[in-house]
Amino acid sequence: MSQLAHLYDALEVIGKGSFGTVRKVRQKSDGKILVRKEIEYTSMNSHERVQLIDELRILKDLKHPNIVEYHCFDHLSEKRTLHIYMEYCTGGDLAQSIASFKKDQTSVPEGLIWQVMLHMLYALHKCHYNFNAGKVNLFGVDVNEPPINQKQVVIHRDIKPDNIFLINSGSETIFKLGDFGLAKLLKNENDFAKTYVGTPYYMSPEVLMDNPYSPVCDIWSLGCVLFELCTLKPPFQAKTHLQLQAKIKKGVIPEIPDTYSAPLRSIIHDCITVDPNLRPSCFDLLENLSVKFLRKESE
Ligand code: ADP
Ligand code: MG
Repeated sequence: MSQLAHLYDALEVIGKGSFGTVRKVRQKSDGKILVRKEIEYTSMNSHERVQLIDELRILKDLKHPNIVEYHCFDHLSEKRTLHIYMEYCTGGDLAQSIASFKKDQTSVPEGLIWQVMLHMLYALHKCHYNFNAGKVNLFGVDVNEPPINQKQVVIHRDIKPDNIFLINSGSETIFKLGDFGLAKLLKNENDFAKTYVGTPYYMSPEVLMDNPYSPVCDIWSLGCVLFELCTLKPPFQAKTHLQLQAKIKKGVIPEIPDTYSAPLRSIIHDCITVDPNLRPSCFDLLENLSVKFLRKESE
């Protein structure tokens, strides 16, 4: 029996995910609109179910203004379905925005690109440095817990325009990192390659090569997203998977139009650095930005 469905009015379906449907719902108590991911877990193998438990566990503890907010979940055992209730992002996702800039043949204003960068760095700062796992019991399963209050590192691993959501509030746009379906609490196991479906345009060379990875793999992907905002194309494109892999390993990107400022272009190049040891961390980038902005203010 569903515990929560009676608290919401089901509205229209707004998208299809890999394992089910994303639907708008209205919370009866206050009229608030949320989204509900309706996931039929019978279509998942046991590995994918573990992945889903990981996702819920991560989401539950990741509260941040630049991360899509998780509300609660509901297990409908007779339908073998899981409902995840989340914040509704009114502006859709960044892949949709890029598509409309392309359609209109207009370029993305530089200010907007800095904003995406800043908001994603705030979100990643929370994931990479500040995640604090609490106790959790998910649909009757006790999940192996690290000691409470131990700082944990979450790596998103799938940053791409489809997973960056927008909320338009007045004249401001807030960007939120979402879809933690492939996120991982940092462990030494490396099974990402087996889990990934789709074309890995934004995947860092170390993850692609199945080498050990660290939080800076998210910085690579962010760099690729920022590049795409400047040029409306991902930096690495190829006809075959092997060719794409070869290009990513080389890490040579096409020129960014000089209508965009030198500091912006330079940060994007820094993010897309093949050697993860030479790539800036989220902290480095934020520090660098705050120095820049402070200097600007004092000028
Ligand atoms: P996938 O498994 O394909 O990554 P997602 O859950 O990311 O599926 O999303 C499926 C569709 O639903 C996409 O079009 C996405 O833009 C939309 N969507 C997902 N979450 C939200 C949300 N919180 N607010 C608004 N739209 C969303
Ligand atoms: Mg997605």
